[in-house]
Amino acid sequence: MPTIALRGAHVWDGVAPGPLEATVVIDGVGIAGIGADLGATETIDISGLTLIPGLIEGHAHLCFNAAPDWRAVYDSDSPARMLLRMQANGLRMLRAGITTVRDLGAPTDLSVALRDAIAEGLAAGPSLRVAGAPITTTGGHCHFMGGEADGELELRKAVREHVKAGVDWIKVMATGGNMTRGTNTYAAQYTVEELRAVVEEAHRLRKRVAAHCHGTAGIRVAVAAGVDSIEHCSFSAPGGIDFDRDLVVAIAAAGIVVSPTVSVGYRLWADDGLRQRRAEVMRAILAAGCAVAMSTDCGIPRVPHEALAGGMEVIAELGGIAPVDVLKLATSTAAGLLDLGDRGAITPGLRADLVAVEGDPTRDLAALSRVRLVVAGGEVVFDERRKV
Ligand SMILES: [Zn+2]
Repeated sequence: MPTIALRGAHVWDGVAPGPLEATVVIDGVGIAGIGADLGATETIDISGLTLIPGLIEGHAHLCFNAAPDWRAVYDSDSPARMLLRMQANGLRMLRAGITTVRDLGAPTDLSVALRDAIAEGLAAGPSLRVAGAPITTTGGHCHFMGGEADGELELRKAVREHVKAGVDWIKVMATGGNMTRGTNTYAAQYTVEELRAVVEEAHRLRKRVAAHCHGTAGIRVAVAAGVDSIEHCSFSAPGGIDFDRDLVVAIAAAGIVVSPTVSVGYRLWADDGLRQRRAEVMRAILAAGCAVAMSTDCGIPRVPHEALAGGMEVIAELGGIAPVDVLKLATSTAAGLLDLGDRGAITPGLRADLVAVEGDPTRDLAALSRVRLVVAGGEVVFDERRKV
């Protein structure tokens, strides 16, 4: 691979308060240096653009089609067709500047195959971390993906099977979910002892556990069991929200990552009161000092895969967060929290995952919708001017 100098941009490194003009040099898959062009063999002039670290989506479903008919499409896809759908969705994300995706629910074999194909250069797409089929009760949330397990023994076996199949994370459904008929979104699906068995087994095998939690009872079980990330963390209750401040304090104290799955879907909520209460929960999570990584749950109805930037605008609004701090949630902070220590910032030695946008996203997140150049693992995968 040649060395490439990206020249003339305002560079925001993922951590600083704002961008500075600099040249960024890529060598192979990594960032070689910042400043002089270090005798690069190729120069790309991106004057006037802002260069930021590639975005990280903390919770995605590449296998879903983001439309109301998602389940019919899911059920009618052959495995071959679903794999193609997952790759196409990943490609759309990459073009939107999302260079890393944590997929928290899809058939295990397809997730692992796509992750490896992308890592090997066999398929184009964002770098993936995958959980495969979420572990869930019989008939529980997302049971149709193939991860049903009941009782401690089956749960331990399910974790072992997932690790054997090659997943990066263990995803477990601690509550039911609105997308699966016949489940209870507000109640816990497992006991503390059962969930603790999942966590113990996963940690023994050096994997971390992401727990899907809507209802407060499920969040309580997940915290007691010692999971590593809480997905959604919505404190849902019939007809509204059942917020427990002490539980949020416990989440912060335990260092459990909150992946809030905030998306453009919020804009479609008819209930202003509910939106207001959700904003209060978000602010309480931030005020308690919880570790938050940006996520949208993209792929579910009305949340397009490439809409991370829109979700970032919504979380800025809900949480009252400055644009530069929202950017950190989707770059350096997300990398730190999701075991992605080789990326998330523009620093020599890290993976060259870079996005050039028009405008300054550290001041205005709308700039993220004007992606002009994307570099993933040192390779220019999208250049608007060259129509790569
Ligand atoms: Zn999800």
